[in-house]
Amino acid sequence: RVVVVGSANMDLVGTAPALPRARETVLGTDFVMVPGGKGANQAIAAARAGASVVFLGAIGSDSFGVTLRARITAAGVDTGQLRVTYGPSGVALVMVDAEGENLILVTPGANASLVGLTDAELAAVRGADVMVAQLEIPVETVTEAAVAARSAGTRVVLNAAPARQVPAELLDLVDMLVVNEVEAAALTGRGRAAPEALLDLVPRAVLTLGADGAWYVDRDGTVAHVPAFEVEVVDSTAAGDAFTAALAVAWGEGRDLLDAVRWAAAAGAACTRRLGASVALPHRAEIDELHAR
Ligand code: ADP
Repeated sequence: RVVVVGSANMDLVGTAPALPRARETVLGTDFVMVPGGKGANQAIAAARAGASVVFLGAIGSDSFGVTLRARITAAGVDTGQLRVTYGPSGVALVMVDAEGENLILVTPGANASLVGLTDAELAAVRGADVMVAQLEIPVETVTEAAVAARSAGTRVVLNAAPARQVPAELLDLVDMLVVNEVEAAALTGRGRAAPEALLDLVPRAVLTLGADGAWYVDRDGTVAHVPAFEVEVVDSTAAGDAFTAALAVAWGEGRDLLDAVRWAAAAGAACTRRLGASVALPHRAEIDELHAR
């Protein structure tokens, strides 16, 4: 069982030949509305990867909240504990031009109100094999959840994204860190961190490098490069979310960690085959098929 503690946003994505500049209005070509936010994405990814998943987060009292809950539930995630707070849901306003260049404004809305976890929420954390969190909700809340996880033997996987510094109080509770290069630099305070530098902070870590694969390191002395799977890349959005979720699922199933990282790499690669974020997240069969190559 996996519990995901994190953000849920409605992504409003418009495409146009060129991005508007300040005070300019541009006539666009297409529009889609899809659930997003790293928390919701990773919850959906974990469900598709085959886990039983509880999502802890907050949606607003607007119509986006209603749609978000429906879409996350339809993906097979238990949203029974999802909070509704008075006010707007988290929203990402995304504009994409013909070259794929984008402009994104995220308003956290209800995500910012996810503070002070309830007994029921903490019980859901304690009941899971693995807890997965990111940094799009208040860091105090992630810490609170991690304390509960630790007390119950639930493993803590932190995807320290978006890039920022993280209090030692939280890092001390992390069993597995997943970061890309930008996030690793923000965490370690070094421009270009060697993967081993992450072991000063946590006992196990994965550094993802997009098409260059990933490094897995741990304090037992393992330093292993896991190459990326070769696929026809369409859009790498949410590859990190697919990777983190699959890693948590495989670890929760008791698989060997290096094999879990390889399986996660297959999930990340599968995600890049399709356009979009949550809609591109792979199901277990596709991950297994790539992993078996
Ligand atoms: P993020 O989206 O968080 O920056 P990455 O881009 O590093 O994360 O992607 C996470 C993982 O997904 C990579 O370590 C790799 O295994 C897989 N992946 C990402 N991009 C590609 C790609 N172009 N081809 C194959 N695998 C990829």
